[in-house]
Amino acid sequence: MAPLIPDMVTRDRPPKNPFWREKTLAEMTVDEWESLCDGCARCCLNKLEDADTGAIEWTNVACRLLDEGACRCRDYQNRRKTVPDCVALTPQSVQTLTWLPPTCAYRLIAEGRELYWWHYLVSGDRETVHQAGISVRGRTLSENDVAVEDLEEFIVSWPGEEPEEGSRD
Ligand code: SF4
Ligand code: SF4
Repeated sequence: MAPLIPDMVTRDRPPKNPFWREKTLAEMTVDEWESLCDGCARCCLNKLEDADTGAIEWTNVACRLLDEGACRCRDYQNRRKTVPDCVALTPQSVQTLTWLPPTCAYRLIAEGRELYWWHYLVSGDRETVHQAGISVRGRTLSENDVAVEDLEEFIVSWPGEEPEEGSRD
């Protein structure tokens, strides 16, 4: 799908040959790899897996370490001490993880697709991921406030959906 480029995003155009078009995920430097994250925090939502089919259901219940306003991990460097099952993305794991959101920059690049207009590397503005309704900001509860046995009550579909232009799904 071609990137959606509304009139609002005309500043700080990306470089002509940006690294994410020139390199594979495995070829990126550590800094390039880290910078590819769009800051949506969709991957920090709790998911439920059907034991029989393996199907993934998203919930709007966020990891206890997520700063919901900033959409950032509160302790990224040491997160595994608090959340041992936090999955680290690698060029290899991106190829196999079935639950990565369809909007995830790593998934898009792995599939040979373009970043969306709201990715800050394209827009030049870290707020556009929020303005476009892609991030989880304003849409989550903390897992500190929801019992594990109640997670099914919080199943939502929007983290697994692709965005429409300029809208909040
Ligand atoms: S879903 Fe992908 S792009 Fe969004 S926060 Fe997670 S790793 Fe970053
Ligand atoms: S530990 Fe941090 S990076 Fe991992 S899921 Fe939780 S908030 Fe996200």
